[in-house]
Amino acid sequence: MVPQPSDPDHVTERCGTCEGKTTHDVRVEIRTESQQEENAEFSREPYRITTCSECGAETTTRMNNA
Ligand SMILES: [Zn+2]
Repeated sequence: MVPQPSDPDHVTERCGTCEGKTTHDVRVEIRTESQQEENAEFSREPYRITTCSECGAETTTRMNNA
């Protein structure tokens, strides 16, 4: 982890589309996973979503399943 100075909503990460490090806008969303009706505990998951400021590509990472 690289310490972020003062803007936690923007991080510099590698973008697979740009093939280099770019600034990403970061947000967290709670998404409902309704495919697995039997598993209510997995019905709502927090996702960390980064959007590349260069090409707009989104990278979604489930946060609580590390
Ligand atoms: Zn990009």
